[in-house]
Amino acid sequence: MVVASDIKIAACQKIKGIKFMNCSSCQGYQLTPVELEKGLVAAECGKCQGTLLPLMNYEFWRNSQESFPELSGDICQHDASDTKTARFCPKCSRLMAKFKLAGHANNRLDYCAACSEVWLDEGEWDLLKKLNIIGHLSEILTDGWQKQIRLDQQDATIRNRYLELMGENDFDRLKSFKQWLKQHPAKVEMKQFINS
Ligand SMILES: [Zn+2]
Ligand SMILES: [Zn+2]
Repeated sequence: MVVASDIKIAACQKIKGIKFMNCSSCQGYQLTPVELEKGLVAAECGKCQGTLLPLMNYEFWRNSQESFPELSGDICQHDASDTKTARFCPKCSRLMAKFKLAGHANNRLDYCAACSEVWLDEGEWDLLKKLNIIGHLSEILTDGWQKQIRLDQQDATIRNRYLELMGENDFDRLKSFKQWLKQHPAKVEMKQFINS
């Protein structure tokens, strides 16, 4: 028979389990509860300041926000650290998958799909604010978001190639010409003329 005290002990063990998870980068350092924002609890490593954020906590928090917190103070992308090497989930020890935040940011989030836990390196929460994607953490972890980043990067590569080839001034002139041509009623004939 399960008695109330057993349930209480089980609950305590569960809380203990969360409290005493170890950081997978810093040997001997445990993760302890921290409030990332009011009402958003994660687990932080006292050494590297990385945090393990349960996606469910994040989604509850996000759905309760009317507007998202803005970045107080200055942070540039370089202030946020990023684990380049593989990271193991502090909860289940499986390898975490890496997800890019945006095309122009090098930082990648680590995510364990088995536990639905996101690992944020020090400063990455603030970086999400800086990039105005604090409300899109769940979307970052999707194929669609990652595919869009790859497409944006391809566009940027092509753009840079043109820029290099013709210089900034000519490239700007060509862009406005292209825009003008696109909207012109005789654009087909004009393109034929250019190609003739
Ligand atoms: Zn650590
Ligand atoms: Zn895990």
